[in-house]
Amino acid sequence: MSKPLHTELPLNPHVAGLPPYNAGMNIAAARLHSGREDIAALASNENPDGCSPKVAAALAGLNPARYSDPACTALRAALGEKLGVATDRIVVGNGSEELIAAVCRAVLRPGATVATVCPGFGLHEIEALANGAVVAKVAMRADLEFDIAAILATLEKAPAIFFLSSPSNPVGPALDRDSLDRVVAAVRPETLLVLDEAYFEFTADDLPDGLAVLSASRLSFVVLRTFSKAYGLAGLRVGYVVTSDARLARAMTAAKTPFNVNAAAQIAAAAALQDEAWMRASISALKAERARVAAAIAAMGLPAARSQTNFLFIDVRRDSQAAMDHFLSKGIIVKPWKEEGFESFIRVTIGTPSDNDRFLDALGALAME
Ligand SMILES: *Cc1c(COP(=O)(O)O)cnc(C)c1O
Repeated sequence: MSKPLHTELPLNPHVAGLPPYNAGMNIAAARLHSGREDIAALASNENPDGCSPKVAAALAGLNPARYSDPACTALRAALGEKLGVATDRIVVGNGSEELIAAVCRAVLRPGATVATVCPGFGLHEIEALANGAVVAKVAMRADLEFDIAAILATLEKAPAIFFLSSPSNPVGPALDRDSLDRVVAAVRPETLLVLDEAYFEFTADDLPDGLAVLSASRLSFVVLRTFSKAYGLAGLRVGYVVTSDARLARAMTAAKTPFNVNAAAQIAAAAALQDEAWMRASISALKAERARVAAAIAAMGLPAARSQTNFLFIDVRRDSQAAMDHFLSKGIIVKPWKEEGFESFIRVTIGTPSDNDRFLDALGALAME
C-alpha cells in the first residue's frame, strides 16, 4: 500500500487553526467522570424548568418526511408581530450561533478587524477568525463591569463588526440606557454593531430593550436573540436576528444553508411564542433563585459579578479547572473559565432550587479547603 496522502491536502488555514469552542460538559460525560447518576447540569445556561407544555403538544403535528420551510415563514411572521418589525428584517437560524457565523460570512473580508469584549462568548471570536478577520478584545473592568471608555475608544477605530453581548456572557451585567446610548453614538458608519441579547428575557425591567434603542438610531445593526435560554429549547436549536435593514437580512440569508432550521424547531419556537406566560413565570422564579444564590455566595465572601442573566460568574480564588473537578466529583457540572486573567472564575447556571443547594454546599466545602 502506498503512503497516505492526506497530510498534504491544503486546508483553509483560517479554519484549520481555529481555537476549539469550549462547550460545557454534558450529563452523560459527567456520569462517566463522577460515577454518579444524579447530575446537576449547571454549565450551559439551559432552563431547568424545561419548556412550555404547548411545545410538546404542537410537536405532535410534525411530519418528519417533509422538508422544513427554508424561509421560516410562520415563525418570522409571529416574531414580526411580537416585535413590531417587518419580516424582511428577520432571519432565523439553527441556534443564534449559526447566525453569528452567517453575519461574519456576510460582512467580513480577509484582514478585516472585528472587536469584542473579554471575557466573552467564544463564537464571537471563532467565527470572525474563520472568516480571516483579526480580532481585538476590550477587557471588562476589574470590578466586572463594562469598560465603556475602552469600548468607545475601540469603536473609534471603526472595526468591521463589534460583537457586544449585553447581558454579558460569561460575566452577567447588562448595559444601562446611558451606556448603550454612548455606545450607539460612537459607532461609525463602516461598523456593524452586533448586539447579542441571548439573555434579554432575564434583564430587569428598567434596562433598555436593545432592539428598540438601535431601531431608533441610524446604525447598521444586528440584534441576536434565542429560544435556547428563557424559552427552554436549547436542544432544538433555534435563534433569530433582527437587522437594521432588509439588505443586510438578505445577505445573511444568502450566507446560511437553505434548510438550516429543522421542522421540529420551527413548530416548537412558534408554540413557545404563543405561551409567553409560561416563560415569564419561569423567569421570575429563576430570578428569585438567582438573588438567593448570589446572597449565599456573598455571605461566603467570594466575589461574583452582578448578573442580569440565568448564571453567576464567581471568583473561586483557585484554578478554575481544579474547582470544576471538585464540583464534578459531587455530580455538579459548572463551567471553568479559561481566558487569560479569569482562570480563577467559574460560571454557574441557576438551576432548580435543589440543584442550587447542592452547588452552594459544594462551594462552601471548596471555600473551606
Ligand atoms: C447561548 C448563547 C448563544 C447561542 O445560543 P443558541 O443556542 O445558538 O441560540 C449566543 N450568544 C450568547 C451570548 C449565548 O450565551
